Amino acid sequence: MASVSLESIKRKFNNVTAIEDITFNIPDGEFWVLVGPSGCGKSTILRTIAGLETATSGKLYIGDKLMNNVPARQRDVAMVFQNYALYPHMTVAENIAFGLRMRKVDPKVVQERVMTVARSLALEHLLERKPKQLSGGQQQRVALGRAIARQPQVFLLDEPLSNLDAQLRDDTRAELKELHLNLGITTVYVTHDQVEAMTLADQIVVLNRGRIQQIGEPQEIYAKPANRMVATFVGSPPMNILPAKYVAGGFDVDGQVLPVSGDMQGKLHLREGQGFDLGVRPESISINEPRRREGREGEFAELVVEVKVVEPLGRETLIRAVLPGSGVVVNVQAGADVRPRPGDRLVLDVDLSKLFV
Ligand code: ADP
Repeated sequence: MASVSLESIKRKFNNVTAIEDITFNIPDGEFWVLVGPSGCGKSTILRTIAGLETATSGKLYIGDKLMNNVPARQRDVAMVFQNYALYPHMTVAENIAFGLRMRKVDPKVVQERVMTVARSLALEHLLERKPKQLSGGQQQRVALGRAIARQPQVFLLDEPLSNLDAQLRDDTRAELKELHLNLGITTVYVTHDQVEAMTLADQIVVLNRGRIQQIGEPQEIYAKPANRMVATFVGSPPMNILPAKYVAGGFDVDGQVLPVSGDMQGKLHLREGQGFDLGVRPESISINEPRRREGREGEFAELVVEVKVVEPLGRETLIRAVLPGSGVVVNVQAGADVRPRPGDRLVLDVDLSKLFV
Protein backbone atom coordinates (compact mmCIF):
# COMPACT_ATOMS: atom_id res chain seq x y z
CA MET A 1 0.00 0.00 0.00
CA ALA A 2 1.08 3.54 -0.59
CA SER A 3 0.14 7.17 -0.71
CA VAL A 4 -0.51 8.85 -4.08
CA SER A 5 0.64 12.43 -4.65
CA LEU A 6 0.09 14.66 -7.62
CA GLU A 7 1.94 17.96 -7.87
CA SER A 8 0.73 20.45 -10.48
CA ILE A 9 -0.05 17.73 -13.00
CA LYS A 10 -0.99 18.98 -16.44
CA ARG A 11 -1.90 17.02 -19.55
CA LYS A 12 -2.31 18.59 -22.96
CA PHE A 13 -3.51 16.80 -26.08
CA ASN A 14 -2.18 18.90 -28.97
CA ASN A 15 -3.66 22.27 -28.09
CA VAL A 16 -6.39 20.98 -25.77
CA THR A 17 -5.57 21.12 -22.06
CA ALA A 18 -7.39 18.14 -20.53
CA ILE A 19 -6.21 18.73 -16.94
CA GLU A 20 -4.26 21.54 -15.33
CA ASP A 21 -2.70 22.30 -11.97
CA ILE A 22 -3.93 19.04 -10.41
CA THR A 23 -2.46 18.82 -6.92
CA PHE A 24 -3.55 16.48 -4.15
CA ASN A 25 -2.08 13.96 -1.73
CA ILE A 26 -3.96 10.75 -0.93
CA PRO A 27 -2.69 9.28 2.34
CA ASP A 28 -1.99 5.56 2.41
CA GLY A 29 -5.17 3.48 2.68
CA GLU A 30 -7.73 6.17 1.92
CA PHE A 31 -10.57 5.99 -0.59
CA TRP A 32 -10.74 9.11 -2.75
CA VAL A 33 -13.37 9.82 -5.39
CA LEU A 34 -12.86 12.03 -8.42
CA VAL A 35 -16.17 13.45 -9.48
CA GLY A 36 -17.39 15.90 -12.09
CA PRO A 37 -19.31 16.15 -15.35
CA SER A 38 -18.30 14.22 -18.45
CA GLY A 39 -15.11 15.59 -20.02
CA CYS A 40 -13.83 17.30 -16.86
CA GLY A 41 -10.63 15.24 -16.82
CA LYS A 42 -11.36 12.44 -14.34
CA SER A 43 -10.18 9.58 -16.54
CA THR A 44 -7.11 11.50 -17.66
CA ILE A 45 -6.03 11.86 -14.01
CA LEU A 46 -6.65 8.18 -13.34
CA ARG A 47 -4.83 7.10 -16.49
CA THR A 48 -1.92 9.35 -15.58
CA ILE A 49 -1.64 7.63 -12.18
CA ALA A 50 -1.87 4.25 -13.91
CA GLY A 51 0.84 5.16 -16.40
CA LEU A 52 -1.44 4.84 -19.42
CA GLU A 53 -1.05 8.58 -19.99
CA THR A 54 2.05 10.74 -19.55
CA ALA A 55 1.80 14.08 -17.77
CA THR A 56 2.85 17.05 -19.89
CA SER A 57 4.24 18.60 -16.72
CA GLY A 58 4.09 18.13 -12.96
CA LYS A 59 5.11 15.29 -10.68
CA LEU A 60 3.44 12.03 -9.70
CA TYR A 61 4.54 10.05 -6.65
CA ILE A 62 3.36 6.66 -5.45
CA GLY A 63 4.71 6.22 -1.96
CA ASP A 64 7.82 8.38 -2.02
CA LYS A 65 8.86 7.22 -5.48
CA LEU A 66 8.66 9.60 -8.44
CA MET A 67 6.66 7.73 -11.10
CA ASN A 68 6.62 10.05 -14.12
CA ASN A 69 8.94 7.84 -16.14
CA VAL A 70 8.06 4.46 -14.66
CA PRO A 71 6.19 2.21 -17.10
CA ALA A 72 2.62 1.17 -16.18
CA ARG A 73 3.62 -2.45 -15.54
CA GLN A 74 6.11 -1.47 -12.86
CA ARG A 75 3.83 0.87 -10.93
CA ASP A 76 2.11 -1.85 -8.92
CA VAL A 77 -1.35 -0.39 -9.48
CA ALA A 78 -4.46 -2.28 -10.58
CA MET A 79 -7.12 -0.64 -12.69
CA VAL A 80 -10.75 -1.70 -13.17
CA PHE A 81 -12.82 -0.18 -15.97
CA GLN A 82 -16.54 -0.02 -16.52
CA ASN A 83 -16.38 -2.64 -19.29
CA TYR A 84 -14.78 -5.27 -17.14
CA ALA A 85 -12.90 -6.89 -20.06
CA LEU A 86 -12.61 -10.41 -18.71
CA TYR A 87 -10.91 -13.07 -20.82
CA PRO A 88 -13.91 -14.88 -22.33
CA HIS A 89 -12.21 -18.23 -22.87
CA MET A 90 -10.95 -18.48 -19.28
CA THR A 91 -12.91 -19.55 -16.21
CA VAL A 92 -13.51 -17.21 -13.32
CA ALA A 93 -10.66 -18.83 -11.39
CA GLU A 94 -8.29 -18.44 -14.35
CA ASN A 95 -9.33 -14.83 -14.81
CA ILE A 96 -8.62 -14.03 -11.16
CA ALA A 97 -5.30 -15.88 -11.30
CA PHE A 98 -4.14 -14.38 -14.58
CA GLY A 99 -2.13 -11.44 -13.25
CA LEU A 100 -0.37 -13.66 -10.73
CA ARG A 101 0.49 -16.32 -13.32
CA MET A 102 1.95 -13.61 -15.55
CA ARG A 103 4.19 -12.66 -12.64
CA LYS A 104 5.27 -16.28 -12.23
CA VAL A 105 3.92 -16.50 -8.69
CA ASP A 106 4.17 -19.99 -7.13
CA PRO A 107 1.06 -21.98 -8.27
CA LYS A 108 0.24 -22.95 -4.69
CA VAL A 109 0.21 -19.29 -3.65
CA VAL A 110 -1.93 -18.48 -6.71
CA GLN A 111 -4.43 -21.15 -5.72
CA GLU A 112 -4.68 -19.82 -2.16
CA ARG A 113 -4.97 -16.24 -3.30
CA VAL A 114 -7.77 -17.10 -5.75
CA MET A 115 -9.72 -18.81 -2.97
CA THR A 116 -9.29 -15.90 -0.56
CA VAL A 117 -10.39 -13.39 -3.17
CA ALA A 118 -13.33 -15.56 -4.26
CA ARG A 119 -14.46 -15.82 -0.66
CA SER A 120 -14.28 -12.08 -0.03
CA LEU A 121 -16.33 -11.38 -3.18
CA ALA A 122 -18.78 -14.29 -2.84
CA LEU A 123 -17.55 -15.92 -6.04
CA GLU A 124 -16.61 -19.34 -4.67
CA HIS A 125 -19.49 -21.18 -6.35
CA LEU A 126 -18.74 -19.57 -9.71
CA LEU A 127 -15.05 -20.34 -10.07
CA GLU A 128 -15.45 -22.86 -12.90
CA ARG A 129 -17.82 -20.73 -14.99
CA LYS A 130 -16.90 -18.72 -18.05
CA PRO A 131 -17.69 -14.97 -18.08
CA LYS A 132 -20.67 -15.32 -20.42
CA GLN A 133 -22.35 -17.60 -17.87
CA LEU A 134 -22.32 -14.77 -15.33
CA SER A 135 -24.57 -11.78 -14.68
CA GLY A 136 -23.21 -8.27 -15.13
CA GLY A 137 -22.73 -7.85 -11.40
CA GLN A 138 -20.90 -11.16 -11.11
CA GLN A 139 -18.63 -10.25 -14.02
CA GLN A 140 -17.82 -6.96 -12.36
CA ARG A 141 -16.95 -8.76 -9.13
CA VAL A 142 -14.61 -11.03 -11.07
CA ALA A 143 -12.93 -7.96 -12.57
CA LEU A 144 -12.49 -6.57 -9.07
CA GLY A 145 -11.23 -9.96 -7.90
CA ARG A 146 -8.62 -10.05 -10.64
CA ALA A 147 -7.39 -6.64 -9.48
CA ILE A 148 -7.45 -7.54 -5.78
CA ALA A 149 -5.63 -10.85 -6.29
CA ARG A 150 -2.53 -8.98 -7.34
CA GLN A 151 -2.53 -7.12 -4.02
CA PRO A 152 -1.52 -3.88 -5.67
CA GLN A 153 -0.33 -0.82 -3.81
CA VAL A 154 -3.07 1.27 -5.38
CA PHE A 155 -6.49 0.54 -6.82
CA LEU A 156 -7.76 2.65 -9.70
CA LEU A 157 -11.45 2.29 -10.52
CA ASP A 158 -12.98 4.04 -13.53
CA GLU A 159 -16.78 4.11 -13.28
CA PRO A 160 -16.82 0.43 -12.30
CA LEU A 161 -20.56 0.36 -11.58
CA SER A 162 -21.92 2.33 -14.49
CA ASN A 163 -22.90 -0.72 -16.55
CA LEU A 164 -24.92 -2.30 -13.74
CA ASP A 165 -28.65 -1.85 -13.24
CA ALA A 166 -29.90 0.16 -10.27
CA GLN A 167 -30.34 -2.57 -7.65
CA LEU A 168 -27.09 -4.33 -8.49
CA ARG A 169 -25.32 -1.03 -8.47
CA ASP A 170 -26.45 -0.28 -4.91
CA ASP A 171 -25.42 -3.77 -3.75
CA THR A 172 -22.04 -3.68 -5.45
CA ARG A 173 -21.39 -0.19 -4.12
CA ALA A 174 -21.93 -1.44 -0.57
CA GLU A 175 -19.68 -4.45 -1.27
CA LEU A 176 -16.96 -2.18 -2.57
CA LYS A 177 -17.09 -0.14 0.58
CA GLU A 178 -16.85 -3.22 2.76
CA LEU A 179 -14.01 -4.56 0.66
CA HIS A 180 -12.11 -1.35 1.12
CA LEU A 181 -12.61 -1.44 4.87
CA ASN A 182 -11.24 -4.99 4.92
CA LEU A 183 -8.29 -4.52 2.57
CA GLY A 184 -7.36 -0.91 3.24
CA ILE A 185 -5.79 -0.46 -0.21
CA THR A 186 -5.37 3.16 -1.33
CA THR A 187 -8.12 3.69 -3.89
CA VAL A 188 -8.85 6.32 -6.51
CA TYR A 189 -12.37 6.01 -7.84
CA VAL A 190 -13.78 7.92 -10.79
CA THR A 191 -17.47 8.55 -11.24
CA HIS A 192 -19.91 11.15 -12.50
CA ASP A 193 -22.47 9.77 -10.05
CA GLN A 194 -22.56 11.97 -6.99
CA VAL A 195 -24.37 9.35 -4.88
CA GLU A 196 -21.40 7.02 -5.35
CA ALA A 197 -19.09 9.89 -4.49
CA MET A 198 -20.98 10.79 -1.33
CA THR A 199 -21.31 7.23 -0.05
CA LEU A 200 -17.86 5.84 -0.83
CA ALA A 201 -15.39 8.65 -0.38
CA ASP A 202 -13.09 9.54 2.46
CA GLN A 203 -12.40 12.65 0.39
CA ILE A 204 -14.08 13.91 -2.76
CA VAL A 205 -12.23 15.84 -5.45
CA VAL A 206 -14.72 17.86 -7.50
CA LEU A 207 -13.45 18.68 -10.99
CA ASN A 208 -14.72 20.92 -13.73
CA ARG A 209 -13.06 21.69 -17.06
CA GLY A 210 -9.81 20.07 -16.08
CA ARG A 211 -9.39 21.92 -12.81
CA ILE A 212 -10.01 21.09 -9.16
CA GLN A 213 -12.98 22.99 -7.74
CA GLN A 214 -12.90 21.63 -4.21
CA ILE A 215 -11.43 18.81 -2.13
CA GLY A 216 -13.19 17.76 1.04
CA GLU A 217 -15.09 15.16 3.00
CA PRO A 218 -18.52 14.39 1.51
CA GLN A 219 -20.41 16.22 4.22
CA GLU A 220 -18.18 19.27 3.91
CA ILE A 221 -18.62 19.41 0.12
CA TYR A 222 -22.36 19.20 0.65
CA ALA A 223 -22.65 21.69 3.49
CA LYS A 224 -20.00 24.18 2.34
CA PRO A 225 -19.68 24.06 -1.43
CA ALA A 226 -16.78 26.24 -2.57
CA ASN A 227 -18.59 27.64 -5.57
CA ARG A 228 -21.71 27.44 -7.65
CA MET A 229 -20.47 24.55 -9.77
CA VAL A 230 -19.90 22.38 -6.69
CA ALA A 231 -23.20 23.49 -5.13
CA THR A 232 -25.22 22.49 -8.17
CA PHE A 233 -23.28 19.31 -8.96
CA VAL A 234 -23.47 17.71 -5.51
CA GLY A 235 -26.92 16.83 -4.19
CA SER A 236 -29.88 15.15 -5.81
CA PRO A 237 -32.03 16.86 -6.88
CA PRO A 238 -29.50 19.66 -7.25
CA MET A 239 -29.49 22.88 -5.28
CA ASN A 240 -31.96 25.49 -6.52
CA ILE A 241 -30.35 28.66 -7.78
CA LEU A 242 -32.75 31.59 -7.56
CA PRO A 243 -31.87 35.00 -8.99
CA ALA A 244 -32.33 37.48 -6.13
CA LYS A 245 -31.82 41.12 -5.29
CA TYR A 246 -30.75 42.51 -1.95
CA VAL A 247 -33.34 44.97 -0.62
CA ALA A 248 -33.85 46.60 2.76
CA GLY A 249 -34.59 43.81 5.21
CA GLY A 250 -34.28 40.87 2.91
CA PHE A 251 -33.86 39.16 -0.46
CA ASP A 252 -36.21 39.94 -3.28
CA VAL A 253 -36.85 36.71 -5.16
CA ASP A 254 -39.24 37.08 -8.07
CA GLY A 255 -40.91 40.10 -6.44
CA GLN A 256 -41.36 38.26 -3.12
CA VAL A 257 -39.24 39.39 -0.22
CA LEU A 258 -37.61 36.77 2.03
CA PRO A 259 -36.70 38.51 5.29
CA VAL A 260 -33.19 37.91 6.59
CA SER A 261 -32.00 38.39 10.12
CA GLY A 262 -29.81 41.33 11.05
CA ASP A 263 -27.21 38.77 12.02
CA MET A 264 -27.08 37.32 8.52
CA GLN A 265 -27.15 40.73 6.86
CA GLY A 266 -24.04 41.69 8.80
CA LYS A 267 -22.10 38.80 7.23
CA LEU A 268 -23.14 39.30 3.64
CA HIS A 269 -21.44 42.45 2.42
CA LEU A 270 -24.15 43.10 -0.15
CA ARG A 271 -25.18 46.53 -1.34
CA GLU A 272 -28.84 47.40 -1.45
CA GLY A 273 -30.18 46.75 -4.94
CA GLN A 274 -27.35 44.34 -5.71
CA GLY A 275 -28.31 41.23 -7.68
CA PHE A 276 -26.94 37.80 -6.72
CA ASP A 277 -27.77 34.10 -6.82
CA LEU A 278 -29.49 32.53 -3.87
CA GLY A 279 -28.86 28.80 -3.40
CA VAL A 280 -31.35 26.66 -1.52
CA ARG A 281 -31.39 22.86 -1.34
CA PRO A 282 -34.68 21.12 -2.18
CA GLU A 283 -34.84 19.58 1.31
CA SER A 284 -34.54 23.03 2.91
CA ILE A 285 -37.93 23.92 1.46
CA SER A 286 -41.17 22.53 2.81
CA ILE A 287 -44.84 22.99 2.09
CA ASN A 288 -46.27 25.78 4.22
CA GLU A 289 -47.74 24.41 7.42
CA PRO A 290 -48.49 27.20 9.91
CA ARG A 291 -48.78 24.72 12.82
CA ARG A 292 -45.23 23.42 12.43
CA ARG A 293 -43.89 26.96 12.38
CA GLU A 294 -45.52 28.06 15.60
CA GLY A 295 -42.97 29.74 17.80
CA ARG A 296 -40.33 29.60 15.04
CA GLU A 297 -41.76 32.28 12.74
CA GLY A 298 -38.46 34.07 12.25
CA GLU A 299 -36.74 30.95 10.93
CA PHE A 300 -38.77 30.56 7.76
CA ALA A 301 -39.86 32.71 4.84
CA GLU A 302 -42.76 32.10 2.53
CA LEU A 303 -42.32 31.73 -1.19
CA VAL A 304 -45.19 31.23 -3.63
CA VAL A 305 -44.62 28.92 -6.60
CA GLU A 306 -46.65 27.25 -9.31
CA VAL A 307 -46.50 23.46 -9.52
CA LYS A 308 -45.42 21.95 -12.85
CA VAL A 309 -44.55 18.28 -12.28
CA VAL A 310 -45.18 15.98 -9.30
CA GLU A 311 -43.10 12.82 -8.90
CA PRO A 312 -44.13 10.43 -6.11
CA LEU A 313 -41.09 8.33 -5.15
CA GLY A 314 -42.56 6.25 -2.34
CA ARG A 315 -40.63 7.63 0.59
CA GLU A 316 -40.97 11.23 -0.61
CA THR A 317 -42.49 13.38 -3.34
CA LEU A 318 -40.41 15.52 -5.66
CA ILE A 319 -42.16 18.64 -6.85
CA ARG A 320 -40.90 20.65 -9.77
CA ALA A 321 -42.39 24.12 -9.55
CA VAL A 322 -41.63 27.55 -11.00
CA LEU A 323 -41.55 31.08 -9.68
CA PRO A 324 -44.66 32.64 -11.24
CA GLY A 325 -42.96 35.87 -12.32
CA SER A 326 -39.75 34.61 -13.87
CA GLY A 327 -40.42 30.91 -14.55
CA VAL A 328 -37.24 29.94 -12.65
CA VAL A 329 -37.45 26.27 -11.63
CA VAL A 330 -37.70 25.39 -7.94
CA ASN A 331 -37.28 21.72 -6.91
CA VAL A 332 -38.93 20.75 -3.66
CA GLN A 333 -38.49 17.53 -1.70
CA ALA A 334 -41.74 16.96 0.19
CA GLY A 335 -43.27 14.18 2.28
CA ALA A 336 -44.79 11.11 0.61
CA ASP A 337 -48.32 12.23 1.50
CA VAL A 338 -48.01 15.60 -0.24
CA ARG A 339 -49.69 15.45 -3.65
CA PRO A 340 -50.30 18.83 -5.23
CA ARG A 341 -51.53 18.95 -8.84
CA PRO A 342 -49.84 20.64 -11.78
CA GLY A 343 -51.07 24.22 -11.97
CA ASP A 344 -51.61 24.51 -8.19
CA ARG A 345 -50.17 27.50 -6.39
CA LEU A 346 -48.15 26.39 -3.40
CA VAL A 347 -46.87 28.39 -0.47
CA LEU A 348 -43.43 27.12 0.53
CA ASP A 349 -41.50 27.59 3.73
CA VAL A 350 -37.87 28.31 3.04
CA ASP A 351 -35.53 27.53 5.94
CA LEU A 352 -33.64 30.81 6.30
CA SER A 353 -30.72 29.21 8.11
CA LYS A 354 -30.01 27.00 5.06
CA LEU A 355 -29.56 29.64 2.37
CA PHE A 356 -26.39 29.94 0.30
CA VAL A 357 -25.49 33.33 -1.10
P1 ADP B 1 -13.82 12.52 -18.05
O1 ADP B 1 -13.17 11.25 -17.66
O2 ADP B 1 -14.04 13.44 -16.89
O3 ADP B 1 -15.07 12.33 -18.86
P2 ADP B 1 -11.51 12.81 -19.75
O4 ADP B 1 -10.35 12.76 -18.83
O5 ADP B 1 -11.84 11.58 -20.51
O6 ADP B 1 -12.79 13.34 -18.98
O7 ADP B 1 -11.27 13.98 -20.81
C1 ADP B 1 -10.90 15.30 -20.45
C2 ADP B 1 -10.70 16.13 -21.70
O8 ADP B 1 -9.56 15.68 -22.41
C3 ADP B 1 -11.85 16.07 -22.67
O9 ADP B 1 -12.04 17.33 -23.22
C4 ADP B 1 -11.39 15.07 -23.69
O10 ADP B 1 -11.99 15.32 -24.92
C5 ADP B 1 -9.90 15.31 -23.72
N1 ADP B 1 -9.15 14.08 -24.08
C6 ADP B 1 -9.05 12.97 -23.32
N2 ADP B 1 -8.28 12.04 -23.94
C7 ADP B 1 -7.88 12.59 -25.11
C8 ADP B 1 -7.05 12.14 -26.22
N3 ADP B 1 -6.48 10.94 -26.22
N4 ADP B 1 -6.90 12.98 -27.25
C9 ADP B 1 -7.44 14.22 -27.26
N5 ADP B 1 -8.22 14.70 -26.26
C10 ADP B 1 -8.44 13.90 -25.21
